[in-house]
Amino acid sequence: SGLSPINTNGKMEELEDNPFYGIFNRQKANQLNIGNTTYKERLKKLEALKNALEVDYKQKLREALYADFKKPFLETDLTEIYPVLTEIKFAKSNLKSWMKDQKVDTPLALLGASSYIKHEPKGVCLIISPWNFPINLTFGPLVSAIAAGNTVILKPSEMTPNASKVMSEIITALFNEDEVALVEGQVEVAENLLKLPFNHIFFTGSPQVGKIVMKAASKHLSSVTLELGGKSPTIIDASANLEKAVEKIIFGKFTNAGQTCIAPDYVLLHSSLKEKFTTLFKSKIAEFYSDQAEQSESYCRIVNQKHFERLTSYIEEAKHNGSNIASGGAFNASDNYIEPTLVFEAPEDSKLMQDEIFGPILPVKLYSNLQEPVDYINSKEKPLALYIYSKNKKHINYIMDNTRAGSGCVNHNLLQFLNHNLPFGGSNNSGIGKSHGFFGFEAFSNRRAFMKQHTIGATDLLRPPYTNFKQKLID
Ligand code: NAD
Repeated sequence: SGLSPINTNGKMEELEDNPFYGIFNRQKANQLNIGNTTYKERLKKLEALKNALEVDYKQKLREALYADFKKPFLETDLTEIYPVLTEIKFAKSNLKSWMKDQKVDTPLALLGASSYIKHEPKGVCLIISPWNFPINLTFGPLVSAIAAGNTVILKPSEMTPNASKVMSEIITALFNEDEVALVEGQVEVAENLLKLPFNHIFFTGSPQVGKIVMKAASKHLSSVTLELGGKSPTIIDASANLEKAVEKIIFGKFTNAGQTCIAPDYVLLHSSLKEKFTTLFKSKIAEFYSDQAEQSESYCRIVNQKHFERLTSYIEEAKHNGSNIASGGAFNASDNYIEPTLVFEAPEDSKLMQDEIFGPILPVKLYSNLQEPVDYINSKEKPLALYIYSKNKKHINYIMDNTRAGSGCVNHNLLQFLNHNLPFGGSNNSGIGKSHGFFGFEAFSNRRAFMKQHTIGATDLLRPPYTNFKQKLID
């Protein structure tokens, strides 16, 4: 069984010329077969993916990411492989209940009927992913798409070609092309894919490209999940355990050399803590990465020359615009190394305060009254994550109630990503829709509503003739 090829609305030639028209149509024809698989069949596929990541390809993936940007092996295990394995584990424990038709109440006026929500697969889906966590952000959504019974075309980033190559090997080994296919290549590949009438597009990347994706999706009214980025603030108030806060912020900011969508982008610090913060920053950096981060096996590199030059231009600008580089600031172009860097007093119009940094530079802005950081955050786009370090419940509640963000933590950062009971995603400029766990399954499902009429019931009373008796029933 299958669905007929694309309805091209008279634009056959345009689509037939598309290099991915063939794969798309084969997946479309196979859509109902895949969609009608049982939960056990879907679990088998997830189990195969788990084995590939955990056993067969683990070392190859580590080596690929090391080749791409010197990512430490253990960091690959923790931030690339482990999150996908936990996503699979979570789906395995819950998929049976997620796939069950969900019975909901039926109002009295409709007596005699039962009402259900069926999570039906969306169909043929496209997943476009970024380079910063290529395995995690390509295979994580894939787990949800498979769990929900879809066919998928994956398009990973061209900036981490080694990772893409191994992912392609995995997909080819585990799936037929008419179920899951991975296509490598430059931006044009994504542009061509975006011309096709996918049932759902799951995009992770920058807000700028997110807008391009949404525009392309609008042509076919494809639904979208957009996992975007932006500047994620961290507030530290005067009551915070500063040592713990600095330790956690360094973990959040310098893991992956700051190339993390939910990394703390900048800190809003109570002004009384400036000196202590600087001292702790220096000592904790030395503890994490030794006095010579460049020699540390725990510290990775900037992904490519373009991003290296973008980031070092921020440091150069900081040297000349009155900013105070309180720690770090060194870099080495030969292997795209940038030292963990702390900057105070970056002017508001500097790139450090305007752009999403996405690198190992931490600007800190001082405040004296809690309203200041709240107003500052609210003057910007809604962030993907907002972090609060405080022991003061009133402050925590005030910040939570008076700001808006996709996700966050109190007294930690990043870890919200790893709890699959929580929806992950942004809001407006930082994203549309949610992923992870049930929320990921939902993103790739259509909630189909249906009613079953059992015997003669009240619904028959709704049809003509419209008698006074029927009028009284609904009054
Ligand atoms: P990007 O938007 O430049 O690229 C992402 C993907 O889109 C890549 O596969 C790329 O090939 C493709 N692409 C690029 N230009 C395109 C175009 N014009 N048309 C169609 N496709 C195009 O992002 P990036 O540099 O790979 O990643 C960094 C960004 O991603 C940051 O903004 C970061 O915050 C965000 N991000 C978000 C999350 C999240 O979960 N919300 C996770 C990681 C990264």
